[in-house]
This record gives sequence, C-alpha cells and structure tokens, in this order.
Amino acid sequence: MEPQQRSPLLEVKGNLELKRPLVKAPSRLPLPGSRFKRGLDQMEDVLEPEKKRTRGLGTATKFTSSHPRAPAITTVPQAQGQTTAPKVPKKTGPRCSTAVVTVLKNQKPGPAVPAQKPGTAAPPKLGGKKPSKRPAWDLKGQLCDLNAELKCCRERTQTLDQENQQLRVQLREAQQQATALGAERRTLEGELTRVRAQAEQGQQELGNLSARVLELEERLGTQEGLVQELQKEQLELQEERRELATRLEEQERRLQASEAALSGSQAEVASLRQEAAAQAALLAERGERLHGLEMERRRLHNQLQELKGNIRVFCRVRPVLPGEPTPPPGFLLFPSGPGGPSDPPTHLSLFRSDERRGTLSGVPAPPTRHDFSFDRVFPPGSGQDEVFEEIAMLVQSALDGYPVCIFAYGQTGSGKTFTMEGGPGGDPQVEGLIPRALRHLFSVAQELSGQGWTYSFVASYVEIYNETVRDLLAPGTRKGQGGECEIRRAGPGSEELTVTNARYIPVSCEKEVEALLHLARQNRAVARTAQNERSSRSHSVFQLQISGEHAGRGLQCGAPLNLVDLAGSERLDPGLALGPGERERLRETQAINSSLSTLGLVIMALSNKESHVPYRNSKLTYLLQNSLGGSAKMLMFVNISPLEENVSESLNSLRFASKVNQCVIGTAQANRK
Ligand code: ADP
Ligand code: MG
Repeated sequence: MEPQQRSPLLEVKGNLELKRPLVKAPSRLPLPGSRFKRGLDQMEDVLEPEKKRTRGLGTATKFTSSHPRAPAITTVPQAQGQTTAPKVPKKTGPRCSTAVVTVLKNQKPGPAVPAQKPGTAAPPKLGGKKPSKRPAWDLKGQLCDLNAELKCCRERTQTLDQENQQLRVQLREAQQQATALGAERRTLEGELTRVRAQAEQGQQELGNLSARVLELEERLGTQEGLVQELQKEQLELQEERRELATRLEEQERRLQASEAALSGSQAEVASLRQEAAAQAALLAERGERLHGLEMERRRLHNQLQELKGNIRVFCRVRPVLPGEPTPPPGFLLFPSGPGGPSDPPTHLSLFRSDERRGTLSGVPAPPTRHDFSFDRVFPPGSGQDEVFEEIAMLVQSALDGYPVCIFAYGQTGSGKTFTMEGGPGGDPQVEGLIPRALRHLFSVAQELSGQGWTYSFVASYVEIYNETVRDLLAPGTRKGQGGECEIRRAGPGSEELTVTNARYIPVSCEKEVEALLHLARQNRAVARTAQNERSSRSHSVFQLQISGEHAGRGLQCGAPLNLVDLAGSERLDPGLALGPGERERLRETQAINSSLSTLGLVIMALSNKESHVPYRNSKLTYLLQNSLGGSAKMLMFVNISPLEENVSESLNSLRFASKVNQCVIGTAQANRK
C-alpha cells in the first residue's frame, strides 16, 4: 500500500478500518510456516481464516505454540478426559505435534503397557488398534513393547526436537517479524498521524471545496443563464448574419450592376469630356458674343434713354398723412393714358378754386383745372419699390459710364426726403431711392464681374446751405459742425471736381451704405436743432463715384451717380412782416430760390445749347456740372403735397417741373476710355 498515492479521503477510510486489526495484531500471529505478508489487506486475509479456525477449535485447541511469550508446552490446558490413549496424528504439522506433546505430558509411569511377546509383538501402530495386553509374565514381550515404545518415543523426541528447532527458527522469525511489525506499526502510526492531519486538512479543504462547489454551482447557474442568453443572442446573430448575407448578395448584385454602369459611365464621361472641351470652345465663343451683346445692350439702353429724353420728370404725390385735412374730392386727378387704366399714369390734373374770382351773381366760380403731363406720375398710393422700378435702368446706366443725376424737387413736407432716403423706422418697405439704387448697383456689378468687369464705388454726402458746403459724413467731434468745404478741381486741368474737407468713403455693400445714411441723418439732426429746420432749407447731395474696369479687354468706364434732395421750393410770403428773424429767413429763401432758379437756368441753357451755362451761379450747379449737360442723364422728381392748402406751392412746383420736362439735352455719351 502506498498511502501517498491515494486521495486523503480514501486514505483516512483505509486507516480507520485498519485501526482495530493493527492493535490486536500481536496476539494474532500468523500460523507457523505461513508467510507473513506486509500488505495490510493481505494480513487481514491471513488473519481472518485464523480467527475462524480459532472459533472452530474452541479454547482447548487455541494454538499458541508459535507465540513467543506463551510457550505451548506449559500453557495449553488439557481436557481431563483425554488420557492414556495417545492418538496417532493423522497429519503432519502443528496438529500432530500438539497431540504428541499432549501424550508426552500426560504419560505416567502408571499402568504399564502390556508387553508384546518377543518376536511376535508387533510394533504399536499409531492410530491403529491398541496392542493386546501382555500377560504379566511376558516380561520379554513387555520389554520388547517398551523398547518399541522407547524407540518410538525417541523418534518422536527426535521429531519433536526437530520440530522444536523449527519452532525456534519460526519463533525467531516471528520475533523479527514482530520487531519489523513494531517498526512498521510506528511507521504506520506516524503515517496515521500524518494521515489524520491530512484528513483534517482534507476535511478543511473539503469544507472549502464544498463552499467553493456551492459558489461554483451558483456561478454555474449564472453562467448557464448567460449561456442561454448567449445562445439566444447567437440565434439572433445567426438570423442577422443570414439577413446580412442576403443583403450582401443583393449588394454584390448591385455592385456588379453598378460596375457595369460605371464602365458605361466612364465611356460616357470620356465622350462628355470631349463634349465639354467642345462646349468650352463654344463658351469662349459665346463669351465673345455675350460681350458684343452687352455692348449692344448698353448702346440700345442709351438709345432708349435718349428716346425717353435725357432729362425726364416724374411727378409724385404723397398720401395725406394722419391728422391732415382731407382734400376735397377731385382736387387731384390722375387720368389714365391712351392705353387705358392698364397704362401707368403720366397725367395729373389739379383743380384750384379761386376765392378771389367770384361771379357777378355771387356764386363761387368753378375750380380751375390745371393739367400736367410728365414722363410718369405716381399717385399717393405708389410704393417705394414701384418708384424705384422706374429708375432702376437709369441708375444702371451709371455702371455703363453715363453720369446720372436724380433730383427731388418740391416744397417742404412734400416727400422729397421720403423719396430719396426713405421713411422713418428703417422699414425695408419704405426704403428710399439711395439705398435701393446702391443695392441694385452692387448686384449688377456682381453679375458683370462674371463677364470680367470689376467695379469700385466711393460715396460722399454733402449739404449746401446758404451757399456753403458741409460734409454730412463728418465723424466724431466734427459732427454737425463740419468745417467749411470748398468745391475744387481734382487736379490742374482735370474736369473732375472734389469737395475739400469732405470724406469720400469706399462702399461695397448695403450695410456700409446704411451706416453712411445713418451718420448723415445724425449730422442733419444736430444741425436742425441748432438752426431751425435747416435740413429743409438746404440741398443734400449724395454722390457715388463709380469706376469700372475690364482688365481682359483693357476697358475702363467711370461716372458719378448723384441723388439730390433739394431744399424746399416754397416762396416766402410777400406780406410777411420783416423782423430780424424773418430777414435771416428771407436771405435763406433767396439763396434757395436763387440756386433752384440757377438749376432751372442751367437746364434751359443746356437745352438751348447756349454757349454759356451758368454753373458757377450756385454751389449746387457748380458741384453737379459734370452730371448735367450733354453726356449726362437727368431725372427730376417733382414732389407734390396732396393738401388743398398747398395748392399754390404745388402749382409752382408743377410749372417748374413742366419747364424742365420740355427741355431736351443733347445726346448722352458714356465716359469711356
Ligand atoms: P420733405 O423732405 O419734402 O420736406 P418729407 O419727405 O420729410 O418731406 O415728408 C414729409 C412727411 O410726409 C414725412 O413724415 C414723410 O414720412 C411723409 N411722406 C412723404 N411722402 C410719403 C409717401 N409717399 N408715403 C407716406 N408718407 C410720406
Ligand atoms: Mg426733406
């Protein structure tokens, strides 16, 4: 047995079973002659039959002859009944020798065995019939018997000696075995202790293992759940995989189709490239033609403007404002043109009831009708967009190199500023001509950039009050009290005029223009508080210098666009008492009237192609001289109040405008180089 190789549990069990037999082992020595086997199991086997045999023999036959501490000869009890008749052992071995020993021990000198007759006496047969008793006289026979018996005894003694020797040898062997067994026992005890310790440790480990088993079982449960989940997931994934495989197949089919289409497309691309090259050549050709057409457009546009007249007059009647008295019905009429109501109106009729003209019968005279016709008439409901639409082409001609001048003429409060700059509040609906014109120019310049044109714009804004020029774009501290400005030629021999001390600001977007208009409004507001409604007593001139260049063709063009909000055209009441304030007012009015009449005279002189044009008679005409005259295009808005109380001033304005309208100024020419 090799305990080390067994599991601790098994080892413990085995040792526990072995415990009892090992303790009793000294009293259960193996049978003489039987080989002692070291294996515990085998020892058990050896011991078991001995036990049985012992039980079967009872105490009397307890075999102790080989026990070292209890020699059989002295300690074996003998049943009283077993006496003289020695039994002849049937077998050899311990049983036989025991019988012999018993016989020897119980042999008494007592009754002699009858002697056999000499010669006849047969040697006693062991185990045979007893020899018949010799008569007392047969001493010889008896002697013979005794000799035979002696001989037999001697033989027996000899046998016993041999046996004794054998037994001694066995005893020694047994002792050696005992010693060996003792040593073995100690070894086993040690082993037992170790095994017990191991058992305890095993027990402990078992406990730990049980706990671990429980834990593992628990984990197993969790893992099983997990496995189930994973299996489920796997199924789903398999399903998904199948789906994806289907889709992949589909995609592959599509890819193949796409590849086929691609190769087709590539061929197509190649042919398209060829086509594109052809198109590019065509495009270049078209570009050339487009340029020719653009030039043609400009020429035709100019011709159209000429046909319309290089000086045009539009009449605009503002609506009645909240709080103003409603004019009598029919005070102002806007008869439709020859094309009917669909035609834009060009006529205006004003009815004036003259109180001074009474009839003899005392019945008031019927109102006098005054008819006017202009290039266009805008009734009160006309919006700013509608008005701008009419002048958009004129403004655009500034890009083509024609100087443009747009005036707003009329009495104070007739809507000049509204027309030019726009209404209050920054509402885009009521934006005036200046912001709209600039936006239009910026967008057209952008379009023309596609044809190779580059434009730049520089803005200035001045007012002319009492024949003095002031910068409306003066920033910061100069606000409202900008230094005196002078109108000078840009250089010796130059036709171009500039205003000294005035700012010329490059603009390229609406926002910048808005900022300028805002600044001008602020400057005017400051001036207004300082000098009683000065804004209506002064001319505001917004100038935009436009420069265009076509680098590819080496073309240049440049022209000014002037948008002029004229001072109120009203005359001073002749019956007004002349106090110191009024005198100042009179001087102002005279200056205004003078400059306005100079404007009229300049237009007339130009129209009549007079050799002398009185530009120098007013700062306004002097400043605008390059934008008036032969090569320039001019538009005058005559703004009219709808109120009956303003009828006189309205008539004056309409008459002035009619005169201007009758003027035809030479053929416009673009300033091209
Ligand atoms: P002016 O500059 O000729 O003195 P304004 O332009 O200041 O006159 O106009 C006077 C008033 O009439 C302003 O309140 C202005 O908003 C208003 N107004 C002028 N024209 C119109 C119009 N077409 N539509 C609405 N309101 C107008
Ligand atoms: Mg005004």
